[in-house]
Amino acid sequence: MKLAARVGRIAPSPTLAMTATAKAMAAQGLDVIDFSSGEPDFDTPEPVKAAAEAAIRAGFTKYTPSSGIDELRQAVIDKLRVEQGLRYEKSQILISCGAKHSLYNLAEALLEAGDELIIPTPYWVSYADQALLNDATPVLLPTHEAQGYAIDPEELQRRITPRTKAIIVNSPCNPTGAMYDRPTLEAIATLALRHRLLLISDEIYEKVVYGGATHVGIATLGPDVAAQTVIINGVSKAYAMTGWRIGYAAGPKELLTAMANIQSQSTSNPCSISQKAAVAALRLGALFTDAMVREFDRRRTAMVDRLNRIPGVTCRMPDGAFYAFPNIRGVLGRRGPDGPIETPHQLAQYLLQHAHVAVVPGEPFGSRDHVRLSYATGMETIQRGLDRIAAAFEKLT
Ligand code: PLP
Repeated sequence: MKLAARVGRIAPSPTLAMTATAKAMAAQGLDVIDFSSGEPDFDTPEPVKAAAEAAIRAGFTKYTPSSGIDELRQAVIDKLRVEQGLRYEKSQILISCGAKHSLYNLAEALLEAGDELIIPTPYWVSYADQALLNDATPVLLPTHEAQGYAIDPEELQRRITPRTKAIIVNSPCNPTGAMYDRPTLEAIATLALRHRLLLISDEIYEKVVYGGATHVGIATLGPDVAAQTVIINGVSKAYAMTGWRIGYAAGPKELLTAMANIQSQSTSNPCSISQKAAVAALRLGALFTDAMVREFDRRRTAMVDRLNRIPGVTCRMPDGAFYAFPNIRGVLGRRGPDGPIETPHQLAQYLLQHAHVAVVPGEPFGSRDHVRLSYATGMETIQRGLDRIAAAFEKLT
């Protein structure tokens, strides 16, 4: 069978692949410690589960409007008004099967052959692959650990061409945990306005921030910026609802209508029951997420401190999200049982096979110096896993 050329341009999500391998090893009875998974270990809050149960009992189990139920779109509108002072009509809100699906609808609606999408690196893996699936070209914009992964506006300017369609803004960032400050966001917005580029603001980790930091949404910088921004968000991370698959997009009407049309011809509505659950989540208030983030904060410090005590490893304290992104350059070049370990990929394989610890290598995020570890897992797991990593690194010669 001759498959479409676009299929050859992408690989399966490496984070999901690593998590699947770790789970398969655990199913064989191996004691695997999994730092690869990008989801909170907290249970979905009770009121959310209750809303889903009530939806099932009430027979709310049929097709809904393709773009999502009014109640949920209104909850999104209310959230964006109350939290960010932004005003949207229902036609500007699309509910999809997770933020990943929102981003995919967006890529389909926006990009075609020859178009360029600017992605600051290190970056969440799917941005580039979704652009490639839609025949567009990801243009990578390097950011540097020493500068806290801040975007350099001059570097950004240099990557803008007549073919540039949009810029990804992912703050807090997966995998680095870095957040952009207001001056950086202003510089990005100024360039976007000058060159008429769409700003794609992926705010999925907006609530997972530490040390009193507040997330600044780029659309809040002014009505002209908001008019050129599409906000992507969802309930997966803030409400421990990764399996429910609800994400949303808010932005310019013409774009959102196109995305809604694509959705109506591909998946139709996201799960009816999950939509009711998401309404309950958005109406929960801050209690659940705040408690979860406090716990992540303790784990963040424990993980980063421990990583920094491993010879050859340095780790920046992340400002948000729930990932540590240690620099492991000092460990590369050493020899393991299967030969020299030269890359993060080889190091991750060594850790999985010989220490039974799953981490995600940096390459698919655009880094050859790092691996990613999630600390959205128990404190005891963190301690045991990092002891194993330290012992495994010591064995390298
Ligand atoms: N954006 C970023 C930066 C992410 O890390 C993720 C999930 O890992 C998503 C979007 C997608 O989230 P979901 O599809 O679960 O809503």
